Amino acid sequence: MKNFLLSLSLFLLVAANTTAQIFDEYFIDKTLRIDYIFSGDRSNQAVSLDQLNQLPQWAGRRHNLSQLLRKGNGQIKVIDKSNGNCIYMEAFSSLFQEWQTTPEAERVNKSFENSFLIPYPKKEIEVEILLREATGNYKSAIKHTIDPNDILIKKIGLNNLPSYTILHQGGPIDRCVNIAILAEGYTTSEMSKFREHAATACQQILAHNPFGKFKNKLNLFAIETVSLSSGVSVPRENIWKQTAFGSHFDTFYSDRYLTTTNVKDIHNSIAGIPYAHIIILANTDVYGGGGIFNSYTLTTTGHEAFKPVVVHEFGHSFAGLADEYYYENDTFSDTYPFDIEPWEPNITTLVNFDSKWKDLLQKGTPIPTNTGDSARYKTGVYEGAGYSSKSIYRPAVDCRMKTNTCKDFCPACQRAIEQLIKFYTE
Ligand SMILES: [Zn+2]
Repeated sequence: MKNFLLSLSLFLLVAANTTAQIFDEYFIDKTLRIDYIFSGDRSNQAVSLDQLNQLPQWAGRRHNLSQLLRKGNGQIKVIDKSNGNCIYMEAFSSLFQEWQTTPEAERVNKSFENSFLIPYPKKEIEVEILLREATGNYKSAIKHTIDPNDILIKKIGLNNLPSYTILHQGGPIDRCVNIAILAEGYTTSEMSKFREHAATACQQILAHNPFGKFKNKLNLFAIETVSLSSGVSVPRENIWKQTAFGSHFDTFYSDRYLTTTNVKDIHNSIAGIPYAHIIILANTDVYGGGGIFNSYTLTTTGHEAFKPVVVHEFGHSFAGLADEYYYENDTFSDTYPFDIEPWEPNITTLVNFDSKWKDLLQKGTPIPTNTGDSARYKTGVYEGAGYSSKSIYRPAVDCRMKTNTCKDFCPACQRAIEQLIKFYTE
């Protein structure tokens, strides 16, 4: 590890290109982690500031700082207060916004933690959180000032770092996408098992293109976050465990949906480790998982489908890909209204197909495309995606975002991932 950090600091000394100059104009090489509480019910959203934290290093992007490649269900916007210029933006999705579509949100107000990492500003900034509404428009939920010299910004991650290993080192931290793989439901005595599972997750991601094609732009770390109990909570079976992140199945009463609402615990446990993306491996043989764009992937390692599912969930959390699956007679429009183009790059309602994978279609491809013609049109516009058999379309008959048996991401998903890796690193 020491050599790795040494080579990184030598690299930083010689990195004097334009990008570095733009980054250096506004930021220092540290992270500002902003913790918020999102709260509300079906029709109301409120965002409150919880805590500001300073981390010793910045491990996110140093390119395209004020631009967005994906819109997300929410956005964080950082403005230089002295001149009003946007100096950083990031998109995200949140469990809170998913919860708002559940029946429970009609009956009660609830709150959810959300934490965002931004490069540490040199001067006073204004931060705004925008949340996507059902209409597809983004509405400001909070706007507030941060003084980087505020003495109450908590400095964390300086010592007592958790034990971690480098699974794959594609290059220096400031030139790569940095991915942390965490343990959930592994006791101290199970850490060798976790290291094996983390290595498998890393291999599986790199075995899928375009991650494999860009492996020199990816770093993956395994962080040994310890749980008191072995396994994770399964509420429908009345099984509750004491785990590092308190995750559980049955999220929103959906059996396979494994999530945690303890987002600050996740970030606190890896403070001081260079990371921008999070994968949490849950030590259980129960099938399930979840992936939330620019928040985290949480998936189970004891199930036979561990290998494809970890890559599928990372497709959600890293690239903002939508599920391409659906069930035959379902025609749900609550997640993706048929009259609005979703922001996810791999599904379309055809409201604005020009913004999607139209340019990947070979000349003469019928829109929509009949599944009977799939041998002729590898990339097409096939009906059924995003939990609906009607009116939502996917780019290929099969994809990693559709089934566990498909070996690859479809061409539109591959391009979406590639664009994002380049956006972060070039
Ligand atoms: Zn796909």
